[in-house]
Amino acid sequence: MRVVKKGWKKRPRVWKKEIGCKPEKLSCLTDKPACGATLEIFEADLILLYYKGEFGGKHYYAGVKCRCCGKTDSVGKVPDDIWRRLLKKPERFDGWQEAT
Ligand SMILES: [Zn+2]
Repeated sequence: MRVVKKGWKKRPRVWKKEIGCKPEKLSCLTDKPACGATLEIFEADLILLYYKGEFGGKHYYAGVKCRCCGKTDSVGKVPDDIWRRLLKKPERFDGWQEAT
């Protein structure tokens, strides 16, 4: 086959998200108070965190460590492909255990 003229190709987009460093129930990995910084985060910044549910089950979520104060913040929803790659990274317990 010979390509006469290249068709439309999706350009890879770099995922990024802006989050605030703020207090959150799920982020008790450090007991530091949130510094209030606004952070622009990329996929490489994400860490796989989990808290323990009522029956000891692990609940995973995407987190990030604030560069300003070192507090761990929850990122919220990330795109599916990024989430699948994040699940292959080493997990970290955030210190939160739901009351039984
Ligand atoms: Zn911070």
